[in-house]
Amino acid sequence: MKHLIDPMDLSKQETDEIISLAQDIIAHRERYQGSMSHRKLATLFYEPSTRTRLSFTSAMMELGGNVLGFSDARSSSVSKGETVQDTVRVVGCFAEFIAMRHYIEGAQLYASEVSPVPIINAGDGSHSHPTQTLTDLLTIQRELGHIDGITIGFCGDLRFGRTVHSLIKALSRYKDIKVVLIAPQELKLPDYIKHDVCERTGIPYREVETMEEVMSELDVLYMTRVQKERFLDEDEFDRVKDSFVLDAARMALAKEKMAVLHPLPRVNEILTEVDADPRAAYFRQVENGKFVREALIVKLHEWKNDPDHGMPEHDKPVYDETLHCGNLKCICNQEKAPYKFRRSEDGTLRCWYCDAKVR
Ligand code: ASP
Repeated sequence: MKHLIDPMDLSKQETDEIISLAQDIIAHRERYQGSMSHRKLATLFYEPSTRTRLSFTSAMMELGGNVLGFSDARSSSVSKGETVQDTVRVVGCFAEFIAMRHYIEGAQLYASEVSPVPIINAGDGSHSHPTQTLTDLLTIQRELGHIDGITIGFCGDLRFGRTVHSLIKALSRYKDIKVVLIAPQELKLPDYIKHDVCERTGIPYREVETMEEVMSELDVLYMTRVQKERFLDEDEFDRVKDSFVLDAARMALAKEKMAVLHPLPRVNEILTEVDADPRAAYFRQVENGKFVREALIVKLHEWKNDPDHGMPEHDKPVYDETLHCGNLKCICNQEKAPYKFRRSEDGTLRCWYCDAKVR
């Protein structure tokens, strides 16, 4: 059975199959209507969402299936103290797929260890958001006609922005990608992405502190909002909240064929004066999210009993009773998932569930 917890749970070939199926669905929507009839998707959202939850719902409905679930965990047995593992065991009796968003990092991975049906990670804390990544890849493909060879600038909150972490991982499998990281000191990309992804896979990246200095080089500008809800310190948030705003003057420095992406919601980081620019792709990106989720559901169903499309072989976990994960927002520290670790290339140990370095 295939779960989608991390973008790397899909091989490059599987990722490409989903992107091209999404394009076929766009071209021939009628062919896929009814392909999930009498099947159900459960959406378990422990954290707010507009686009992701509604696009899963709309995708399943387009395919002729049904949707059940909750958008506020307070209305479920979670409020009585039920664990994510028990919840998916139960919900797996009612639905063929589960899309879950959680503010706790690693929650979906832990849930997938016992789930009887495929789990789709719809965002876990500031860690991962693989279906947004599929949306972003489809959008780049449709806007530019290719993914290989792009120079992509990530701008804003690269520290807590889970969509950035997941997209960089996925891009590491395409050819000749160059990454530019545009962020203030407080919001720089976490080391595990820089070292374990960019350096290990040889993606050249550079860090800059202004948009102006790189704008003319970019094929894609990926804007993000400051993730206010993940700041532990309000003063720190106030210092960075207005960082890096995209306006018409900055757009004037960019290539004629650049695409501006944003996972949305936007707060103030793209002025509305940019919306009418043909390079502003963020609302088209939203629609792509629905098509790509349709394609994902169809493929997960097709792969469910296919041994050639299981989960990738992961390294064996390292158990060491003297160590623990220091990330308070990790499932290990919230629901007593066992402490287990993976050894990264540079020899450091990282939490199995949330990737935090063990200190
Ligand atoms: N919608 C995206 C997410 O869920 C981006 C954001 O919230 O800023 O991560």
